[in-house]
Amino acid sequence: MTVVEHEEMSIGLAQRRLQDSVAALVDPVISWSGGRVMSTDSLYSRVRGALTKQSIRSGGRGAPQRSAPCAVDCLDWLRAVDRDSRRMIAGVAVVDPGSGTETVLRVLAGESFGPEQTGMVLSFVAALQRHARSGAEIAGDNPVRVPLRKPCPQCSSLWHRSVSGVRSWALVASEHGARCSECSATWTTQQFGLLAAMLEQPV
Ligand SMILES: [Zn+2]
Repeated sequence: MTVVEHEEMSIGLAQRRLQDSVAALVDPVISWSGGRVMSTDSLYSRVRGALTKQSIRSGGRGAPQRSAPCAVDCLDWLRAVDRDSRRMIAGVAVVDPGSGTETVLRVLAGESFGPEQTGMVLSFVAALQRHARSGAEIAGDNPVRVPLRKPCPQCSSLWHRSVSGVRSWALVASEHGARCSECSATWTTQQFGLLAAMLEQPV
């Protein structure tokens, strides 16, 4: 393998991570409840929705619910995501100034980058992943679901595709355990050590 090939592989991987990071913010979230596939709004939409609800509530007579996300947190998060996505797209692609943040991020995810831009793309990924984590906290996503980004030790699937064709990581961990969406294999939190050992093995 030449150095050039290695760099091409790196940028390919970095671009996939960028697409996944953007998807974590702007794609509908697919989850499973009682064996049924559930689709909810994207993280970005939910934080924006939470801000609107909070504004309406604070304008009314009722006291804000303690469990509701703080409007300032929502606003700060939305501003940070808006600012970062516009910073990222500048110099990468030209978008209509009136484009919404979700559009800007989708354009960014669809761009092609050269091997020399790997570092830049990975810095985008790090920033977007930070936003996805803090956004999930603000939106009150519980449990926080963490894709393990490794093939399932049981069925070797890396991806799960919903009936509507939405792709998501097959193997996902939460505070309640890990589960493969493809073959329904589950691991309890007590089995996380075992799962980690299995993931180290080539599938
Ligand atoms: Zn599986």
